[in-house]
Amino acid sequence: MGRKSLSFALFFGLLLGLCLSTRAQEAKTVLQSATKAMGDVKSIQYSGSGQLGILGQAFTPGGPGSKSAKEEMTLVEPTPIRKGGGGPFAGEQKQVNLVSGQYAWNQPGSAPQPAVAAADERQLQIWLTPHGFLKAAMENNATAKKGNGGTVVSFTDGKFKVNGTIDAQGMVTRTESWLANPVLGDMPVETAYSGYKDFNGVKFPTMIVQKEGGSPVLNLTVSDVRTNADLALTVPDNVKAAKIPPVNVTNQKLADGVWFLAGGTHNSVLVEFPNYAVMIESPLNDARATGIMAEAKKLIPEKPIKYLINTHDHFDHAGGVRYWVAEGATIITQEMNKPFYEQAWKAPRTLEPDHLAQSPKKATLITFKDKYVLSDGGRELDIYRIAGDIHNAVMSMVYLPKEKILVEADDFTPPPPNASLPGPRSHAGTVLLYQDLQQMKLDVATIAPLHGNVVPFSALQQAASTEVSSASK
Ligand SMILES: [Zn+2]
Repeated sequence: MGRKSLSFALFFGLLLGLCLSTRAQEAKTVLQSATKAMGDVKSIQYSGSGQLGILGQAFTPGGPGSKSAKEEMTLVEPTPIRKGGGGPFAGEQKQVNLVSGQYAWNQPGSAPQPAVAAADERQLQIWLTPHGFLKAAMENNATAKKGNGGTVVSFTDGKFKVNGTIDAQGMVTRTESWLANPVLGDMPVETAYSGYKDFNGVKFPTMIVQKEGGSPVLNLTVSDVRTNADLALTVPDNVKAAKIPPVNVTNQKLADGVWFLAGGTHNSVLVEFPNYAVMIESPLNDARATGIMAEAKKLIPEKPIKYLINTHDHFDHAGGVRYWVAEGATIITQEMNKPFYEQAWKAPRTLEPDHLAQSPKKATLITFKDKYVLSDGGRELDIYRIAGDIHNAVMSMVYLPKEKILVEADDFTPPPPNASLPGPRSHAGTVLLYQDLQQMKLDVATIAPLHGNVVPFSALQQAASTEVSSASK
């Protein structure tokens, strides 16, 4: 008996081994003929026109990215695509984003700015292009299987798993991978390539459509392709030395039991109640959430944070919300955000497991339509949906009536005190916020913005009445 079952196990193992090597051999054959059909290149540079969508900036919760720019842009795909290879690969409006091996940086003017956190994604984007995919698959022991529309070739490199579909003509028609996103978890990045044409002996798609988390982020019509240009890049010294900056949280006392938590690109506000504390906004990601939690513990060590208020679902403002679920806080947000968060938070988080993935808890949400009030022991905090907000359909703000403090996101971003030009993101949004406050007869003395510095109400009044030509949209 024992022998029999052992031989079965062996046979099964052998069969599995054979299967794998056949799949690997098949992948190699498919990749070789695809490389022949599409043209082997050292580097490729393509340009065209189209739309760039910004992920996580939809007008309605979970909707498609609303801001798109129709701009001439040049995308450069450098190969060799492995570590050490590099090149500029995306022109986002007038900015050039570069990656070389593990280093990423931006070249807005003459001084290169390190972009450490972007390196992984930029490297991955190269592998997701047709020629980049073929090269990376060849070097990473890819496997193949029959799929929809052709052969699906798969490989894993580091933490990234990449699939690509190669059709009967040997053209790469689709690539897919996953990137870690604070809101969407393991977020699919899917790119479709169609309308292949011959550009001086090299086949390249004329239509490129990329989706992240199901939302379109790029829709490009390619008009020009150049191959084998010299794309040798020198990584600037400051880029080589750069590290992801540590989370910096500063506190500024605005009133008794009210602190403005700043120190980075996004702010939060901590409000103390008799028996608990409330955090307004947890932007960016788990790391920022951990930082503001530590600051809250320093300021009010004895009180738990019972509520986390979220102003809107844009990813840069919602990326830290899950952290508070793990901490046992109740999330307060406008009712239209609830189905989006519940859906988004179901996604697996294997690429970068966050605090909630590591200590799972069921989320408790309090939702409201137009207004929600927290009131306890003489402290009152009012949450309002901003009527007619043009930045986000269900944007909310927080008002402390006793302290006359208004906390708002994105409608009014006061510039630093010494800046020569005001920098509201949207002048129309600033005007609307001001008009809304007038109509609601809210008595505001201080604005604690979720971007920028604390300013007196007069700064909003002034910004709303000043026409801003270059910064307004
Ligand atoms: Zn926003």
